[in-house]
Amino acid sequence: YFITVEGGEGAGKSSILQTLGKKLTAMGYDVLTTREPGGIDIAEKIRKIILDPTHTTMDGRTEALLYAAARRQHLAEKVLPALESGRIVLCDRFIDSSLAYQGYARGLGMDEVFTINQFAIQDCMPDMTIFFDIEPKKGLERISANKDRERNRLDLENIHFHEQVYQAYQKLVLKFPERIQVINANQPFEQVEADAMNLIVSRLTN
Ligand code: C5P
Repeated sequence: YFITVEGGEGAGKSSILQTLGKKLTAMGYDVLTTREPGGIDIAEKIRKIILDPTHTTMDGRTEALLYAAARRQHLAEKVLPALESGRIVLCDRFIDSSLAYQGYARGLGMDEVFTINQFAIQDCMPDMTIFFDIEPKKGLERISANKDRERNRLDLENIHFHEQVYQAYQKLVLKFPERIQVINANQPFEQVEADAMNLIVSRLTN
C-alpha cells in the first residue's frame, strides 16, 4: 500500500511522517518511511544539482525533468521493491509536489508536468495521499520560528510563490477527491498526527 504526504512549507508533514511510521510499525505493520530523494545515491546527486544555490540559471523544464528523474530512481530502487514485498510505503512528497511546484507555481502547466511524471512513474500512483492543509503565511511563520531548519535555493521564494503552491494543491484535491485526503495542519502537532493516523488506519483496515 503506497501512501504519500504532501503540503507546503511548515505544514509539519516530515516530522509527523516519522512518528506515523514508528507508530504503525509498533502496531505490527511492515512500514518503509521514506522521502524523495530517499537516500538513494543517484537521486541524492540529482537533488543536489536542483537545490544548489549557485545554479541560478537552472531552467524550469530542466528542474522538472530532474525531479522526475530523481523520483524515478527512488521509485525503482526503493519504493517498488518494498511495495512488491508487501510493505506499506509512507513517502514524503511525490508526483503532486511536482504538479504543484513545477506545474502550477513555476507555470510549466500541470498537465505537461503530469505527462513527464507518468513516464517516470508508469502506473505507480499512490493509493492514498494526505494533504497537510495550512495557509502558506502560517506555515512560513512556523519555519521562521525554527532556526535550525535547512535552507536552500527554493526557500528564497516569496509568499506569492507559496500561495500559488497552495492553490495548486487545492486544485489537486478537487481533481483527485478519492486519492487525496485533506487534514487540517493548522492544529497542535498531536492533533494533526492523530488525524493522519486515523485516516491511514481506517484505510488499512477496510
Ligand atoms: O519536503 P521539503 O519541504 O523539505 O522540500 C524541500 C524543498 O524542495 C522545498 O523548499 C520545496 O519548495 C522544494 N520542492 C520543489 N519541487 C518539488 C519538491 C520539492 O520545489 N517537486
